[in-house]
This record gives sequence, C-alpha cells and structure tokens, in this order.
Amino acid sequence: MKVEQINVGNALRNFVYVLYNEPTRQAWVIDPYDAKQVANFLDAHQYKLEMVINTHLHFDHTKGNEELLKKYNSKLWDIHNPDDIELTPEWKLEVRKSPGHTMEHVVFALVNKAEQKGFFGGDTLFHNGVGNCKNGGKVEVLYETIQDLKSWVNPSALFYTGHDYGLSNLEFSLSHKPLEVYKKEVERLENSSTRVFPFDRELKTNIFLNVDREDFIELRKKRDNW
Ligand SMILES: [Zn+2]
Repeated sequence: MKVEQINVGNALRNFVYVLYNEPTRQAWVIDPYDAKQVANFLDAHQYKLEMVINTHLHFDHTKGNEELLKKYNSKLWDIHNPDDIELTPEWKLEVRKSPGHTMEHVVFALVNKAEQKGFFGGDTLFHNGVGNCKNGGKVEVLYETIQDLKSWVNPSALFYTGHDYGLSNLEFSLSHKPLEVYKKEVERLENSSTRVFPFDRELKTNIFLNVDREDFIELRKKRDNW
C-alpha cells in the first residue's frame, strides 16, 4: 500500500491523501478537496477509487466528495457509524474517535499485519500544533483526545497531517518559548522537500503534546489570538 500526499495549494494549505494498491489498481481517498487533482492522479495511474473517506465534515475536507463519488461510482465511508476499513486482506485503516476540533472527528491508523505504518491526523493534530476548537469543537475534549493519541499511535508510524501548518506553528511555539528544539525544527522544515515524518518527531517537538491540561487550554487560547 502506498500513500500519495497531494498538496492542494489553497490558502488553507490542505493536504489530501490517496492510498493506492499497485497490484489490484485500487485506491482510497482521505479528505478530498479538489476532485480534479485527485482524478488526475487516479487516471494517470489507472486506479479505481473504491471509497471516499473523511476525518470530519468541515467543507475543506469534503469539498471533492460528491464529484469523486459520482465519477468513480465509489462508496462513501460512513463517519456517523465509524468502522475500521479493510483495504486489502493485508492492509486496513483502523479508526479512532478523536473529538475536540469537531465533536465528530476521527483519525486513522494504516495497519499492516497488526503494525501501524501510518497515521492520518486530519485536523486533530498538525506538525507542531493541534486543531482549533472554534467551529464546533471543545478544547477540554481535544486535550483528552491528544493524550489518547500519544499512547495509541506507533511512534515510528508516518504521520500524515491535514494541513501544512508546521512552520507557522513553530513560529508560535518560539513566541511562547524560544527553545532550541523549535529553532532546529524550523531549519529542518525549511530545508525539507517532504511533509511526511515519523510520529515520534511530534512527541519531541510539538508544544501541545508536552503540556498539562491547564497549559494546553491556555496555549490553545493564545494560539487562537496570535
Ligand atoms: Zn476542520
């Protein structure tokens, strides 16, 4: 199973993910924004889109749903009854409820033979930050979700985030605490051609993963007004 990260190039800096299985030409999409971009990738490689999957229902994560469902006659994964998704006999997407950014948010682990290889964080977790709670979320609930994910996600799994917010999140982290680790991360991101890194990097560099409940709530508020 391979994963294509599509950088949408919109003002919100969304990432869309296409999972694809070369031997069977099957594909799945997570959080489609621009249907044409996704279709271009699928058609260029002659993949059949099996299913459209969303981490939550904000418009920038569902915008491409309808057009893709129609074009490929694909199934829409039911976020209201979230079940694990069997992709192939060897690969599955394991779903985990992750309320906080919205109350109906989920994240996924890409699992091969019981080992998490990837983690799709939607708008729950970004590089060096977490989602806001301004559009239907609750910050106290997001804190609990983040604690859950810290122990649920395999540290060596590749982390696929919903938006490219890493650098602005680091600027915020530096404005709060000018730590060397954040400065180094700015350099790393600036010099990196990829936006896919193992999850354990977040455990070390994400300020929101390393504070207690009270500070988390305070930091989220500060970030909203930054
Ligand atoms: Zn969102």
